[in-house]
Amino acid sequence: MKRELGIARCGLACCLCSENQKCGGCGSNECPDNDWCENKKCSMEKGITHCYKCKEDCKKGLLNKIKPYAFTLFMKRYGEEKLLDCLAENEKKGIVYHREGITGDYDDFDDVEQLVEFIVTGKR
Ligand code: SF4
Ligand code: SF4
Repeated sequence: MKRELGIARCGLACCLCSENQKCGGCGSNECPDNDWCENKKCSMEKGITHCYKCKEDCKKGLLNKIKPYAFTLFMKRYGEEKLLDCLAENEKKGIVYHREGITGDYDDFDDVEQLVEFIVTGKR
């Protein structure tokens, strides 16, 4: 885990992204989605660093996917550092963020609260 890359504006975990060998994270503007990312554009216009700092319950852009939505909800509740702590702990337990392509153990959920619980406990 490259903790220093942190979490992208949308809630995706740059620190664990399989692209992060060649991409320096959301703030580097090297993300393949950089030029059309709705969450990046909107949060920059609002003058906030991340969607989790936004008061709206929003499903725009990547927030229509359960993983960035749940990570964003988690950070609204517990903060970014706590999310990074949990992701680091879960990695030690063998939980994989990107197992195949851009999907992994945090993607196989239909219920956002169950995913938040999984982030906290590392158990399902
Ligand atoms: S590709 Fe996107 S999600 Fe992955 S490290 Fe780069 S900015 Fe982050
Ligand atoms: S409205 Fe949606 S996309 Fe825009 S900053 Fe808020 S959460 Fe992000």
